[in-house]
Amino acid sequence: MPVSADRIRLLNDAPARQQASYVLYWSQMNRRVAQNHALAHAAEIANSQHLPLLVYEGLTCDYPAANDRLHTFVLEGVPDTAAELRSIGAGYLFYLRSRPSDPNDVLYRLARNAHSLVTDDYPVFIAARHNARVPARIGIPYIVVDSSCIVPMYVHDKRNYGAYTIRPRIKRALAKYMEPVEMPVLQRRWRESLLPPEVAGLRTTVANENIAGLVSGCEIDHTVKPSIEYRGGARAAGQRLTRFLEERLYRYARESSQPSKHATSNLSPYLHFGHISALEVALAVREHAEEHKLMPEEFLEELIVRRELAFNFAKFAGSLIESLDALPDWCRLTMTEHAADKRPFIYTPDQIRQAATHDELWNAAQRELLLRGTIHGYYRMYWGKKIMEWSPTYEEALRTMLHLHDVYALDGRDPNTYTNILWCFGLHDRPWGERPIFGKLRYMSFDGMKRKTDVAAYVDEIDQLWKFHAPR
Ligand SMILES: Cc1cc2nc3c(=O)[nH]c(=O)nc-3n(C[C@H](O)[C@H](O)[C@H](O)COP(=O)(O)OP(=O)(O)OC[C@H]3O[C@@H](n4cnc5c(N)ncnc54)[C@H](O)[C@@H]3O)c2cc1C
Repeated sequence: MPVSADRIRLLNDAPARQQASYVLYWSQMNRRVAQNHALAHAAEIANSQHLPLLVYEGLTCDYPAANDRLHTFVLEGVPDTAAELRSIGAGYLFYLRSRPSDPNDVLYRLARNAHSLVTDDYPVFIAARHNARVPARIGIPYIVVDSSCIVPMYVHDKRNYGAYTIRPRIKRALAKYMEPVEMPVLQRRWRESLLPPEVAGLRTTVANENIAGLVSGCEIDHTVKPSIEYRGGARAAGQRLTRFLEERLYRYARESSQPSKHATSNLSPYLHFGHISALEVALAVREHAEEHKLMPEEFLEELIVRRELAFNFAKFAGSLIESLDALPDWCRLTMTEHAADKRPFIYTPDQIRQAATHDELWNAAQRELLLRGTIHGYYRMYWGKKIMEWSPTYEEALRTMLHLHDVYALDGRDPNTYTNILWCFGLHDRPWGERPIFGKLRYMSFDGMKRKTDVAAYVDEIDQLWKFHAPR
C-alpha cells in the first residue's frame, strides 16, 4: 500500500528536474530506515521515475547548544543507517560539518542533480525552520512527510486543549493508520558514480571507533559529556524495545510511576532522533501484549495519545511554542495574580543547573539529567514544578527549563519538551485549588513524592552514579 496522502505535503511549486540522477531523501528527524514513511515515499517516487534513491543526513556544529552529548548520540546512529541503506540498494551521504567555516550548502549541491526532494515534516526546532525556508530556494519539488506520528499531524485540523478531546479522535483513526510501512523494493540500485563530484569529498565516514575523534574535532561545547546511559542508533533502540517488552511492559501499568522500579521504556531519546518510530514501538507492543495477554493501554496512552497531543500543540502554537503566551487564559490570569507572591526559596539558573538546592530529591532528578540526559517521567513533573516555585518569575522558570533541556536532554527540542514544560504552567491541565505562587496551577510537594514513591531508593541510585560520573 502506498504511503497515505494524509502524511504528505508539497511545500513549493518548483518543477521536477527532468535530467535527474536520483531522488533525494533528506533525513532530518527520522534518522532511520525501518518504518519510515518519508523514506518509503521517496522510494515510491524513485521507482516511478526509474531513478535510484539517495539519502542525505547532516549534522552541523552551529545549532543552539550543539555539544558532545547530542553529537555522540547522532553519530552512533550513522553506522546502523549506512548498513541498512546499503542492504536495500539506496545511496547514503552523511556529512559532519565540524566548523562554521566548512561548507554549509551540501543539500543544495545534491539538489542540483535530484528529481525531487523528500524530507521529514516536523513542527519544531531546526527542521521546522528548514521546512519554512528551504522550499523557496531549492528549485525542485520539496515534499514533507509525517513519519513522527502514527495518526498524521495534519489529520487534526485544530488545536486540542486536552487529552480528552484528542483521545477519541486518535482512537477512531488508529484502525486506518496503525499499519506497518511498506518499503518498496528499489528498482534502480545506487551507484557511487552518481554522487556529484563536488560533494563526494565531503562525505564523513563514521564507524564506532572514530566517533569520539570526530566529536572532539567539532567546534561545539565539549563540557557536556555523552550520556552515561544511552547509546544512539537503531540497533540500540531495538534492544531497548526488546528489553521493554520482555521485562517491563507487564509491570508498566503498576510501576511506571515508581522511578526506582525502572518499568518504563527509556525510548524517548530514540523517538526524538527518529532512531525508532512510534509506529514500530506501538505495533510491537500491541503484538506482544496480545500474545502474552497483557493490557498495554497505559503505555499506548503515553506513546500515542500524549505524544501526539504534544505534536498537535506544537503544530498550532507556532512561534509561541517557547512562550507562556501559548497557555490558556486561566493559566496566564492565575500567574498574573500570583506574580508578586513571596518565594521562600529562590535559586539562580546556575544553582539549579548545578543541582545545588535544599531538596535532595530534586537534586537527584537534576543530576539524572546531567548524567543520563533524561529524567524519569514522574520526577520530571516534580523537577519542573519546583523550578517554577524557586524562580523569581514564571518567565525565568520557563527559560531555565528550556535551556536545561536544550543543553542536557537527549530527548529535548521535541514537541514533547515544549508541551510538557508548559504543562508545568497549566497546559492541557485543569484548574486546582488556589495556593501561593502556583495560584490555580497544580502543585507538587516533596511529602507527596515521599508518600507515593520510594524517594530514598532513587536518591541512593543517583548518588551512586554521581560518585563515579560527576562532571569535573
Ligand atoms: C517538565 C517535563 C519535561 C519533559 N520533557 C520531555 C522531553 O524533552 N522529551 C520527551 O520525549 N518527553 C518529555 N517529557 C515527557 C515524559 O517525561 C517523557 O516522555 C518520558 O519520561 C520518557 O521516558 P520513557 O521513554 O521511559 O517513557 P515511557 O513511559 O516508556 O513512554 C513511552 C513514550 O511515550 C511518550 N510519553 C511518555 N510520557 C509522555 C508525556 N507525559 N507526554 C507526552 N509523551 C509522553 C514518550 O515519547 C515516551 O518515550 C517531559 C515531562 C515533563 C513533566
